[in-house]
Amino acid sequence: MRIDVVSIFPEYLSALDISLIGRAREDGLLDVRVHDLREHTHDRHRTVDDTPYGGGAGMVMKPEPWAEALDAVADDSPVERPTLLVPTPSGTVFSQPLARELAGYEHLVFACGRYEGIDERVFQWAAERFDVRLVSLGDYVLNGGEVAVLAMVEAVGRLIPGVIGNPESLVEESHEGGLLEYPVYTKPSSWRGHEVPPVLLSGDHGKIAQWRRAQQVERTRLRRPDLLPEGPLA
Ligand code: SAM
Repeated sequence: MRIDVVSIFPEYLSALDISLIGRAREDGLLDVRVHDLREHTHDRHRTVDDTPYGGGAGMVMKPEPWAEALDAVADDSPVERPTLLVPTPSGTVFSQPLARELAGYEHLVFACGRYEGIDERVFQWAAERFDVRLVSLGDYVLNGGEVAVLAMVEAVGRLIPGVIGNPESLVEESHEGGLLEYPVYTKPSSWRGHEVPPVLLSGDHGKIAQWRRAQQVERTRLRRPDLLPEGPLA
C-alpha cells in the first residue's frame, strides 16, 4: 500500500519510522511518503495561511499550496483516483470498519490541517481527482491533523496482510465483531493478592471460550452499551 501525508510538520510523522509500521515499511509492505506543504509555497516567508473571510479568530490554510501539493501526489499515484483523507473534528468518526475498508485500498493520501483548518474549496476541487473523506478521530479538538494521521495509519497499517505476525490476533480484538475484547492475563497466576480467573488455568477450551464471550458482552454492556445490537447477540 502507498500512503502519502502532506503536513507543515513532516518531522511529526517520524513516529511512522518505528515499531510495526516502521518494520512494514522496511519490508516493503507499506510505502509511506511524507511531504512538506511549504515546499509548495512561492513567497519568501513560505506562507500557508491567511485571515478568514467573514472575520473571526485564527487563520485559515490557503488553497494554492494545498492544490499544488495534492496535484503532485495525484500525478504520481499508482491509481486513477486515490482516496484523500482529511482529518477534521467536523468529519465522520473514524472506526474499525472504516480502517478495514481503507486497508483494502492501494493508495491513501492524508492532508494535515492546522490553524482553523483548510479553505473549504480545496475539498470541492480535490473531488475532481480524489475520493475525498472527511474523518474525525473523536469529539474533541486537536491542534493539527498529524496526531490523527498517526492513529489512522497505525489502525489501517496493522490490518494489511503481513504487518502483524499472527493474523489470528486481529480477529478477537475490540471493535472486531462489534464487542470489546475480554480481559487478558499472563504469568504469574497469583500477583499481589490478585488471581487469574481459574477457568483460564483449566485447559478446557470450550469453557474458556464461553467465559471470554460472557466477559466481552458484560464489558461492552458496562463500558460501551451503544455498541450492543438491539436484538439478541449471535
Ligand atoms: N476550527 C476547526 C473546527 O472547529 O472544526 C478546528 C481546527 S483544529 C484547531 C486544526 C486541525 O487539527 C484540523 O484542521 C484538523 O486537521 C485537526 N484536528 C483537530 N481535531 C481533530 C479531530 N478530532 N479529528 C481529526 N483531526 C482533528
